[in-house]
Amino acid sequence: MSERERQNLRRQNEISMLEMAQYFFDLAADRLKLEESLRALLRYPKRKLIVVFPVLMDDGSVEHFEGYRVQHHPVLGPCKGGIRYHPDVTLEEVEALAILMTWKTAVVALPFGGAKGGVRCNPQELSVAELERITRRYAAEISPIVGPDIDIPAPDVNTGEREMAWFVDTISMHTGTFMPGLVTGKPKILGGSEGRETATGRGGYFIAVEMAKQMGIKLEGARVVIQGFGNVGSSMARFCQEGNAKVIAVSDVKGGIFNPDGIDCAQLKQYERKTGSVVKFPGTQSLTNKELLELECDLLVPAALENQITAENAEKINAKVVLELANGPTTLEADRILHNRKILVVPDILANAGGVTVSYFEWVQDRSFYFWDAKKVEKRLRDFMVRALHKVLNVAQGERVDMRTAAYMVAVDRVASAARARGLYA
Ligand code: NAD
Repeated sequence: MSERERQNLRRQNEISMLEMAQYFFDLAADRLKLEESLRALLRYPKRKLIVVFPVLMDDGSVEHFEGYRVQHHPVLGPCKGGIRYHPDVTLEEVEALAILMTWKTAVVALPFGGAKGGVRCNPQELSVAELERITRRYAAEISPIVGPDIDIPAPDVNTGEREMAWFVDTISMHTGTFMPGLVTGKPKILGGSEGRETATGRGGYFIAVEMAKQMGIKLEGARVVIQGFGNVGSSMARFCQEGNAKVIAVSDVKGGIFNPDGIDCAQLKQYERKTGSVVKFPGTQSLTNKELLELECDLLVPAALENQITAENAEKINAKVVLELANGPTTLEADRILHNRKILVVPDILANAGGVTVSYFEWVQDRSFYFWDAKKVEKRLRDFMVRALHKVLNVAQGERVDMRTAAYMVAVDRVASAARARGLYA
């Protein structure tokens, strides 16, 4: 596939991600009978910043990079969302992701609005020194609209602890004060939280345990299939194994593996670290990602990419519950098919909110300079996830809607209530 075709495909996916978010926002707004003025306010981002900045390259030349920071709506509190570095980053993509962050933070009742940022660059072609100069200059460029009380960035695709440390250092140097609450996902030595790395997988696991209880089934012995064995998929696999569920299939970009008696996920992690893939893990049969998604199981966990469950394979999904740990893994058409087939889908904005919840904990700890132990983080994460799940289930039952519509209703209602309470400053 050519670069242009790849970009077009990505763009189509982005549009569908934005369209999907807008579609469910409209559905929730209709059901909530949201007034026109609030619909208009919440449908689009409040602030979009485009920055173009020069960076000194290692060979002495100067290159210009384009970056973005989009804030959806800071109605409930400061905006929150990651920063991605990718050659295909567009303003439209960043907008869609910022809007989704608003609904994600609202569904778990965090005092945040949504934001997202990005720099169009290819980290694979940049040295560490160049990445540092890009990060510091981008931080300086967007500094007028970020801050612990305004907008708190975090890692996303191709950024991590290292970039967050540079970001904090740059702004702290500008202001003359050490400002750890400026970003989350930092190294622990600079105010990062316990439990952040595994938070999305752990939050998803808490939801799975509670969903199983609600459905009157036991997670112990339940058959789990996980697509993706990165940060999220591998921690979900580990927690499932610790909870005595049977992880029968796992995959990554290179392919999948299957064992009906269960896979040892701790050993698999070591194997994957050594070989770079889960493929050919001893004692398993090989299968494709397509076959993996159609396996008979109790819990199917897409934890890799968007648009994996589509109109083509939704009829063949053979799971009782789909837990969306990836962002946007189910297309709109597939969502309808699964709903008609009575397959429960726990939507991404709820299922994968564990990461941003622990980011919230990090921000809270940074503001008081008092840090919690791992047990406290875990307990509070469970409380937030389980409370949010029950709220969504209550709305789904009361309104007779699927869980995705219910999650959007919870989120939109919370943001709209805050906007009404604040009133219109016009
Ligand atoms: P990651 O890069 O650590 O891992 C991604 C995994 O998916 C890898 O195992 C990769 O091999 C696999 N993969 C890539 N392409 C694939 C394909 N075509 N078929 C099958 N597998 C494929 O990423 P991550 O942080 O684990 O994120 C996974 C998903 O979860 C993404 O959709 C991300 O947006 C979402 N998410 C992540 C977090 C977080 O805290 N990391 C939070 C919320 C949502």
